[in-house]
Amino acid sequence: MTIVVTGATGHLGHLIVEALLREGVEPSDIVAGGRSLAKLDDLAERGVRVAAIDYNDPATLAAALKGADTLMLVSASEPGKRVEQHKAVIDAAVAAGVKRIVYTSAPHATTSGLILAPEHKGTEELIEASGIPSTILRNGWYTENYARSIPQVSATGELVSSVGDGRVASASRKDYADAAAAVLTSEGHEGRVYELSGDVAWTQDDLAAAISHVTGSAVVYSPKTTDEHAAILKAAGLDDGTVYFVTTLDANTRDGLLAETSGDLSRLIGRPTTPLREGLSAALA
Ligand code: NDP
Repeated sequence: MTIVVTGATGHLGHLIVEALLREGVEPSDIVAGGRSLAKLDDLAERGVRVAAIDYNDPATLAAALKGADTLMLVSASEPGKRVEQHKAVIDAAVAAGVKRIVYTSAPHATTSGLILAPEHKGTEELIEASGIPSTILRNGWYTENYARSIPQVSATGELVSSVGDGRVASASRKDYADAAAAVLTSEGHEGRVYELSGDVAWTQDDLAAAISHVTGSAVVYSPKTTDEHAAILKAAGLDDGTVYFVTTLDANTRDGLLAETSGDLSRLIGRPTTPLREGLSAALA
């Protein structure tokens, strides 16, 4: 049984490979793929096979997927290019005779108004059309997404957003990786779509309190309207596209599109998801 994991040079893909190893998968049954093989040295040292995978280079896809049973397709990271890139991987999987695809999607990708949903919807449709049995892991928000802004939030004492009272059921990347490994190493997941998210949907006040807790500096939530938020982001030098993305995502969050707590994630991993404070603290460590 060979499992090819794409994006293994990235955070989630690397954690998925580590979770597979913890689940007892033979290192030689795993192919960790990425553009830079040097970033996979630690896995290669543990006996994991590594392969160059560039979604823009079909020859690398054909070579990496040769003889593979299962493709763990970690979604790509360049918005606007992802459907085309994922199509190249799915086409290569069909050509290689891959028997199963597991894909990391987004919450309710086929029906959601979430700004990130269309590319995941497009990919889910391509997977369906490929005829390869699949499992869709609709990953919710990562707690780690907040780590980069913590130093600035902590320095100003203000958590600025236009999320209003919207809640976010985030979980740590490791939770999502453990779920992927659980699906990859057990039976009965073909044709299933999992809505994965944290057990607790928290507010911006909860996030401010968690940041205060992990940094030791007092932070309060400073709610803004979308227009106020856009003006702040523009004044900080962000380009129009980024301002649109951030404020639309906040509006999506205000509308509850990241708030669902289906319980699918904790059921798959057999434990509660990582609490917000713990997840933030680990991300900062
Ligand atoms: P990372 O940015 O850490 O990893 C992305 C991975 O995709 C890297 O291994 C990167 O390779 C690889 N990749 C990007 N472009 C290509 C390409 N052209 N060919 C081959 N590989 C490529 O992201 P995470 O691990 O944190 O997240 C995984 C995915 O989840 C993201 O790519 C994105 O689709 C999605 N995401 C979800 C979020 C959420 O909150 N649910 C938040 C952010 C992203 P390389 O190392 O060469 O760059």
